[in-house]
Amino acid sequence: MEQKQFQAESKRMLDLMIHSIYTHKEIFLRELISNASDAIDKLYFRSLTDDSVGKSRDDFYIELRPDKEKRTLTIIDNGIGMTAEELEQNLGVIAHSGSRAFKTENTLDENTDIIGQFGVGFYSAFMVAKRVTVRTKAFGSDTAYEWQSEGVDGYTIDTCTKSDCGTEIILELLDDTDDEKYSEFLEEFRIRQLIKKYSDYIRFPIRMEISREKLKEGSESEYETHIEVETLNSMTPMWKKNKNELTDEDYNNFYRDKFFDYSGAPLLHIHNRSEGTVTYNSLLYIPAKAPFDYYSKDYEKGLQLYASGVMIMEKCADLLPDHFSFVKGLVDSEDLSLNISREMLQHDRQLKLIAKSLEKSIKNELTKLLKTDREKYTEFWKAFGIQIKFGVYNEFGRNKELLQDLLMFHSSGCDDAEGFTTLSEYITRMREDQKYIYYAAGETVTRCASLPAAELVRDKGYEVLYLTDSVDEFAIQMLQKYQDKEFKNVSAGDLGLESEEDKTALEEKNAAAKDLFAAMQKALEGKVKTVRFSNRLKNHAVCLSSDGDLSLEMEKVLNTMPTGQKVQAERVLELNPDHPVLKTLERLQTEDPDKLAKYADLLYQQALLIEGMPIEDPVALSKMICDLMV
Ligand code: ADP
Repeated sequence: MEQKQFQAESKRMLDLMIHSIYTHKEIFLRELISNASDAIDKLYFRSLTDDSVGKSRDDFYIELRPDKEKRTLTIIDNGIGMTAEELEQNLGVIAHSGSRAFKTENTLDENTDIIGQFGVGFYSAFMVAKRVTVRTKAFGSDTAYEWQSEGVDGYTIDTCTKSDCGTEIILELLDDTDDEKYSEFLEEFRIRQLIKKYSDYIRFPIRMEISREKLKEGSESEYETHIEVETLNSMTPMWKKNKNELTDEDYNNFYRDKFFDYSGAPLLHIHNRSEGTVTYNSLLYIPAKAPFDYYSKDYEKGLQLYASGVMIMEKCADLLPDHFSFVKGLVDSEDLSLNISREMLQHDRQLKLIAKSLEKSIKNELTKLLKTDREKYTEFWKAFGIQIKFGVYNEFGRNKELLQDLLMFHSSGCDDAEGFTTLSEYITRMREDQKYIYYAAGETVTRCASLPAAELVRDKGYEVLYLTDSVDEFAIQMLQKYQDKEFKNVSAGDLGLESEEDKTALEEKNAAAKDLFAAMQKALEGKVKTVRFSNRLKNHAVCLSSDGDLSLEMEKVLNTMPTGQKVQAERVLELNPDHPVLKTLERLQTEDPDKLAKYADLLYQQALLIEGMPIEDPVALSKMICDLMV
């Protein structure tokens, strides 16, 4: 028999398959089953207008036949089959769309990456088989043909006998090696697993003979083998069912099994069908807890992507924006046939449209949850709030408008320290004369609340947000305003609380203390930029604040980043003009300038402590205190 050569392009593809270092060799089954399903589709379609097909919808099936003795796995369909020419054309030449993606690639590594993401077609059989035999009979033809190949050397085509139309693909599996156990593809449990994973929603039954040991009738100890034909796939995808046919339990069970989250029911499911510019079904879930690796770089976001019920991608990252990376779920689109999907790199406009519409619907559902079930929303916020805040800050605030209404913070306006408020709730509680949305930043609510400046603002009857996550202030600064109200850090600059008279009075006091402050500033050279009085203080003698955009809290956060670069806010030492310590300072200014320098340092260190900032040299500080005591 004549040995025919593959076309150059096919040869390269084959070569790639045979030497594939790709770990997911298992996808060969998905590929062959999806070809079988396409072939059935074609004949079924024909049967609608052509009575001579003699089959109805229920007569079509795919069958899997593992044979451990022969080490073969056979995939059978009763679809449209292939003529000799089609065999030659389809399996001798790579004419299908997937090949185009390969043309531009050169190295094995780059290619294998594409294999991971897209369909690879019939030749993937060579990832697991040393010899592939295709026996096929086209609908309406009298002759059946057998195509056989052992890989790159070429293939043969001969006639054979086969009674019905359709195709049988016989894979003679490769020998097992230490690393690779090809015989697993003959195991019932493994086949079941693969069908569930990749082909569960193929619209025709995928059958397999299953042998079971059962008690012999009438006997209590004797067993006999029963052969039963079982359908391995569930055919109708859960997400294509009607919402009102499904219970919460259905949704929750599906979530648990599909996404292997056994930690408990998800917080929310979002089940949609969209028929706009792109048609798709989506079923999304918001987990109740963040996965253990969620806030690490190991976490991979993404949704499962299906094309008409066939899974083509396990984690499609492009479908989810980073700020919603916690969402799990899947998308199934009829607009992406398995073939088209292979070209998706070029056609990702549709994918982008889907992603945009998913983003919108996630946002809407979260907004709804916030309005209707505060407790649940709070649970969500505790698990994923940080991600939303990062979302506001990331990409130069590109998504801040989308996300700002989802934000929550602790606040002096909440009943307890654990409580949260949204920004719009804050706004509704704002006093008529209030210009700013005030916030204080610190590690804990208690810390924020005890900041002298926060106390002052509260005493004026204004609410103060307590920002306790390191990302908070960055997000707030990115927002700048909410509903036209500017944010104001209680520890920075002018709080907008003083009357004009107060301001003038303060300026006068500052002018009078000019020399004192100059002396103190000299003593604190390199530590603070300015020393001045402020109206920010009530009972305390000092506090530290900052001029400019970089606050002290932000300085702390930035300096813990692994970039190695250190930043320093423009520190200001603020003094309370009414505090008795002022008298002492004034006295020392003339009597004992050395001691004044020490006191200035002492006040500065106290301000650091109040602010929760590290003391540069605790030993020196302790010594200085003792010196002053004797
Ligand atoms: P693709 O499915 O992307 O077209 P494949 O390499 O998987 O690429 O298959 C090439 C072609 O071979 C298919 O388009 C189809 O025409 C034909 N083919 C493959 N499997 C079968 C089958 N089981 N029955 C009929 N035709 C098939």
